[in-house]
Amino acid sequence: MCLPPLTAQAEWLGDARPMMGTEVSVYLWSDDAEKGRQLLDEVFDEAARIDRLMSTYKDESEISKINREAADTPTAAGEELFGLIRRALDISVLTHGAFDITYDSVGQHYDFRERQRPDAATVASERERIDYRLVELDQAAGTVAFARQGVRINLGGIAKGYVVERGVDILRSRGIEHAAVTAGGDTRLLGDRRGRPFVVGIRDPREEGEVAISVPLEDEAISTSGDYERFFDEDGVRYHHIISPSTGQPAAGVHSATVFGPDAVLTDALSTSVFVMGVERGLTLIATLPDYESIVIDAAGKVYYSDGLMPPDTPPAETPGTDE
Ligand code: ADP
Ligand code: MG
Repeated sequence: MCLPPLTAQAEWLGDARPMMGTEVSVYLWSDDAEKGRQLLDEVFDEAARIDRLMSTYKDESEISKINREAADTPTAAGEELFGLIRRALDISVLTHGAFDITYDSVGQHYDFRERQRPDAATVASERERIDYRLVELDQAAGTVAFARQGVRINLGGIAKGYVVERGVDILRSRGIEHAAVTAGGDTRLLGDRRGRPFVVGIRDPREEGEVAISVPLEDEAISTSGDYERFFDEDGVRYHHIISPSTGQPAAGVHSATVFGPDAVLTDALSTSVFVMGVERGLTLIATLPDYESIVIDAAGKVYYSDGLMPPDTPPAETPGTDE
């Protein structure tokens, strides 16, 4: 993220805190500095609340209880968690299974800090449990059930988008008109930078600290998924945190996938999905979503843009059989 320096104008307030295994940051413009500082705290409190509900690293979270019990008995999920699980399952349908919160039956065997990964036999057996259709929702009862033992769900591919969306909802409802809320690779902007767009940098996937592409944006969400967030390299292979549901292995072929559009929950899930689907299938999917655009950097460092971002003078791809 490239944001205005905090000292440039006293009324821009900002803070960043380590949360959810990453950094959450909030910047906002407030006429009343005292109220602005309270609002910063409120957004961080909201992020912490959502994390307590949805983190699989916390035994007492609602989602951990579901992972423990839902294969044996339909397990109650609160309205909010239920709603987000339902959205995740809808996005699985939209992405033909590229986005799948049951990836975690394989994903749980990775520990990137310890350079641990599942062996081939573990991947082969756990992979059979990656299938969003094994998650059964009962809307009337508000319960989640798993159709077989060993299924696990993890909202890591969508929860940060939800956090930044909720953060901006809170700020908007309190009268804030200019803000940026970021959680890891997900940013939701509220309004503009007072007369200018915010400029969001997409990281160079292989040069730490370098920005590959800068995108001017207002009032939108932007999410990037990269193979540089949580990973280790072993014998020339990068083992990272985005799992291809069809192979059970980290998705190859793409270094980063960025999606922007109106809703941070969707941009978050779609950036993960486009990463898994690869350049061609990913951009084909984005072309079907009118308000969403994408920028993909492939494993050779080549940059691809979705149709809506093409400059107007770009020659159209050759379409055989047309005679203009
Ligand atoms: P970040 O966590 O850096 O914002 P992403 O939005 O791409 O990056 O989310 C990656 C996370 O999504 C992983 O850490 C994991 O929790 C989860 N995940 C990995 N593979 C999948 C998948 N195929 N479908 C849904 N979620 C996934
Ligand atoms: Mg994502």
